Amino acid sequence: MASFYDEVEIEDFEFDEDEGRYTYPCPCGDKFEIYLDDLRDGDDVARCPSCSLIIRVVYDPDDFADEEDEETTFEINQAILV
Ligand SMILES: [Zn+2]
Repeated sequence: MASFYDEVEIEDFEFDEDEGRYTYPCPCGDKFEIYLDDLRDGDDVARCPSCSLIIRVVYDPDDFADEEDEETTFEINQAILV
């Protein structure tokens, strides 16, 4: 089992819109990083590319869930009802 250096709320991360990436300062001077796509996939481990430390990202999966499928289904149901 992986041992996390720390647990950090997603709100405390810095979001890089261009990269679709969240970063958080690592004690080594680099930054932990995790991508928006990783969060959507349910991944909660942010890694530092310069050292072996990892941190756990605390977030609500519902905030990042891909709701497209659900909405499409809903719209289809509505269309049938109408
Ligand atoms: Zn580091």
